[in-house]
Amino acid sequence: MKYDWVIVGAGLTGATLAERLASQRGARVLVVERRRHLAGNAYDHPNPEGLLVHRYGPHIFHTQSREVFDYLSRFTAWRPYVHRVLAEIQGRRVPLPFNLNTLHALYPRRLAERVEEKLVARFGHGARVPILKLKTADDPELAELAAFVYQNVFLGYTRKQWGLAPEELDPAVTGRVPVVVARDDRYFADPYQALPAEGYTRMVERMLAHPRIHLLLGADFKEIEGELRFDRLIYTGPIDAFFDYLHGPLPYRSLRFVWATHRTPAVQPVAVINYPNEHPFTRTTEYKHLTGQESPFTAISYEYPEAHEPGRNEPYYPIPREENRLRYRAYQKEAQKLKHVFFAGRLADYRYYNMDQAVARALKLFRELP
Ligand SMILES: Cc1cc2nc3c(=O)[nH]c(=O)nc-3n(C[C@H](O)[C@H](O)[C@H](O)COP(=O)(O)OP(=O)(O)OC[C@H]3O[C@@H](n4cnc5c(N)ncnc54)[C@H](O)[C@@H]3O)c2cc1C
Repeated sequence: MKYDWVIVGAGLTGATLAERLASQRGARVLVVERRRHLAGNAYDHPNPEGLLVHRYGPHIFHTQSREVFDYLSRFTAWRPYVHRVLAEIQGRRVPLPFNLNTLHALYPRRLAERVEEKLVARFGHGARVPILKLKTADDPELAELAAFVYQNVFLGYTRKQWGLAPEELDPAVTGRVPVVVARDDRYFADPYQALPAEGYTRMVERMLAHPRIHLLLGADFKEIEGELRFDRLIYTGPIDAFFDYLHGPLPYRSLRFVWATHRTPAVQPVAVINYPNEHPFTRTTEYKHLTGQESPFTAISYEYPEAHEPGRNEPYYPIPREENRLRYRAYQKEAQKLKHVFFAGRLADYRYYNMDQAVARALKLFRELP
C-alpha cells in the first residue's frame, strides 16, 4: 500500500502528527516504531503486581499551554496531580525547588527569618530567583544562600546526572536553578498539572486509533525503508542516525532503572525523592503517588545515570554543551536540503522537550506542513 505520509516514531511527537494528518487532512499514514510499544518514552504499563509504572522514568504532565491541554483532553480524562519533590540534604528531607520552607528547614531560625526578609524585600514575594542572580547580590547573606544551594542541591546532583563538572556544561544550566521566594512546595508552577487518568499509553492508543492510521511496531525504519511506498516522511528518531552519523554521533546521557516492589502500601511520602549528595542513584520514584492506585503493594524505581552506548541503552538527555549544539547544526543543514522529509521531536531536534513542548512542536509543524 502507498501512504501519503510515513511517520517514524510513535512517541508524543509522532502520535500528534499522525492524528492531525489523518483526521484533518484525510491522509493515509503509516507509523513505524522500533520498540514493541506505543507512547515513546512516556510509555506506562502494569507491572506483575498490576501497578502502573513508567518504563522510562516518572513522567509528570504539566503545561502553561491551553492549546496543548485541550488537544490532549480529546484523548484522555485527567487525574489532577500536583507534583511535590523532596530532597535529602544534610540528613533531612526538605522540599524542592528550594523555597522558603526549605530555607527554614535547613537554616537556624534567626538567620532564616533575616534571609527571608531580605529575599522578599529585594525580589518580591513569589519571585523565582536563579542562583546566578542571587550570587551577584551585594549582600553577603544572599550570596551565601546562593552558594549553599549550589553546593547542597545542585553540585552533586549535576555531577551524577551528567558525569561532568558544572563548568563543563553550558553556564545556563547552573544559572537556572531557582530559589522560590514563597512557601510554595509545588515543583511546577504551571496552571495545568494532571496525569492521564488511564495512563499515557492508553492516551496515545486513542490518538492513533484512526482508520487511516496504520501501525508497524517492532520495526526499525532504517531496515525497512526500501520496502515502503510513501510521498513524505516525518522522522522523530535521532537525527544523527538518519544521516548515518555523517558528522559523528550526537552525545546523550542515559539512565539505568532498578525496580523494586514492596509488600506494603507506601514507602515514601511523595512520588519523587532526590538524592543530590548521597548514593549513586539520583532519585527514587514511587508510582502510586502519580497514579492514585490502591494496592497492598507499591512499586519504586531507582534512577542511575550512565553514559549512553548506542544499542545497549537509550539516548535520554542531549548533553548541553556548545560543541554538541554545533554538531547538531551540521545535521540540521543536511535536513534542510531534503524537501520531503520533516524532522521533529526530542531526538530529531536534539533538544530536551517536556511532553507538552513535544506536542506543541508537533502541532506547530502540522500547521506548517505543505
Ligand atoms: C527520564 C525522563 C523523564 C522525563 N520526565 C518527563 C516529565 O516528568 N514530564 C514531561 O513533560 N516530560 C518528561 N520527559 C520528556 C518526555 O519523555 C518527552 O517529552 C517525550 O518523550 C518526547 O516525545 P517524542 O515523541 O519527541 O520522543 P520519544 O518519546 O523518544 O519517541 C520517539 C520514538 O521514535 C522511535 N524511533 C527512533 N528511531 C527509530 C527508527 N529508526 N525506526 C523506528 N522508530 C524509531 C523510538 O523508539 C521512540 O519510541 C522525560 C524524559 C526522560 C528521558
